[in-house]
Amino acid sequence: MKFTYIFGPVYSGRLGHSLGLDLLGKRICSMDCLYCEVGKTEELTLTRKPYVPAKDLLDELRQWRDEHCDNLPDYVTLGGSGEPCLNSELDIIIKGCKQILPSVPVAVLTNSTLLCDSEVQEALMEADAVLPSLDSLVDKEFTKLNRPCGGGIVAQLAECLVQFSKKYSGKIFLEILLSQGINDSQENLTLLKEYVTKLQPHRVDVTTLSRPGAFSLAKAVDPDVRKVWQNALSECITRFDANGSASPQHASQKNAPPATVLQSATGEFADLPEQNWSAVKQCVLESLKRRPQTPSQLAIALTLPLSNVQRALDTLEHEGDIYKSEPDRTAALNTDEPFYSCQ
Ligand code: SF4
Repeated sequence: MKFTYIFGPVYSGRLGHSLGLDLLGKRICSMDCLYCEVGKTEELTLTRKPYVPAKDLLDELRQWRDEHCDNLPDYVTLGGSGEPCLNSELDIIIKGCKQILPSVPVAVLTNSTLLCDSEVQEALMEADAVLPSLDSLVDKEFTKLNRPCGGGIVAQLAECLVQFSKKYSGKIFLEILLSQGINDSQENLTLLKEYVTKLQPHRVDVTTLSRPGAFSLAKAVDPDVRKVWQNALSECITRFDANGSASPQHASQKNAPPATVLQSATGEFADLPEQNWSAVKQCVLESLKRRPQTPSQLAIALTLPLSNVQRALDTLEHEGDIYKSEPDRTAALNTDEPFYSCQ
C-alpha cells in the first residue's frame, strides 16, 4: 500500500531506524528557517488544528504495522513537513502510536515554538523522547535564521523548555543547527553553555547543513567548528549519580551516535530484496520528495546498498522524475557527490 503520511523507516544519526509520521501534510510551520530541507514554509502560523486528522494517520499506521510487523523501527518519529506540535490532535496521535506499536518508543521533533502552550506540554508528556531545537539564544540570530511566526523572544521559549523538562520523565535530545556566519558566534556559544548547564538534557546534538537548504544564505560550518561546539556543550551535561554526587556525562551520552552530517554509505544495512525493484525505486523517489539527498545519504537512510540506490537514481533521472545538481565541494559539506532532487 502507498502511504500518504508515513515515510521510511529512514536511518537517522540521532535516532537510528526511524519511521516518520507527517502530522501536517503540507508545508505548514511556525518557522521559516533558512536551512529548511523541505523548502520554504507555505503557511506560517501558530494556530493549532488537526491538519492531518489523528484517525487518518493512525489508520495508516495500523496498515503499515500489518504489512511490516517483522521489521519494526527503533523509533516512531512525529515530524513531517512542518512543526508537528501544530497538530491539535498530537496527544491522540502519540497515545495511538503507542497502542498500535507498543514496543516502539515515540519521539517528537519540535522547533520549540509551542512549548509555552500548556496543552502541547501535556501532550508531549506521553512521548518517550522529545527532540527540541534551539539554534540560537541571541534574538537577532534566532530571528535571522529561524524566522519565527510573529517574531518571538527566544529566551521565553528556552525557559518554557526548562519548565517542561522538570515535569517530563522521557528523554530530551536538544539540537543546535549551526549556520556559518549566522549563529556560530561566541555570544551564542556562551549563552548556550549556560543554558545547557541549566537544562541538563540527555544529549546535545550539534549539527550543520548536510543538504541544500531552502535559501542559499544558509551555509554549513566547518566540521572542526561543529566538533568544538559539540564538545563544549556536551561538557555542560553533568548528571547526578545515585549518591547525589556530580558525575561526568552518562555512558549513553558518550556512546550516543553523533548527530552529524551523514558520512558515507556502506550498504551494510541492506535488507530490502533486490527483486522488489519497483519498491526500491519508489522508496528513493518518496525520500527525495522530502528533501534533496546524495546517493550515499539515500543509501544510509533507506538501508540499501549504494549500487541499488544509484541504479534507481539513474532510472528516475532518465524518466524525468528527478534531477541532479553539481556536487558541493565546500569543505564543510565534505562531499564530492551530486545531490538529487524531485522536479
Ligand atoms: S526546519 Fe523545521 S522548524 Fe524550520 S521551517 Fe523547516 S520544518 Fe519548520
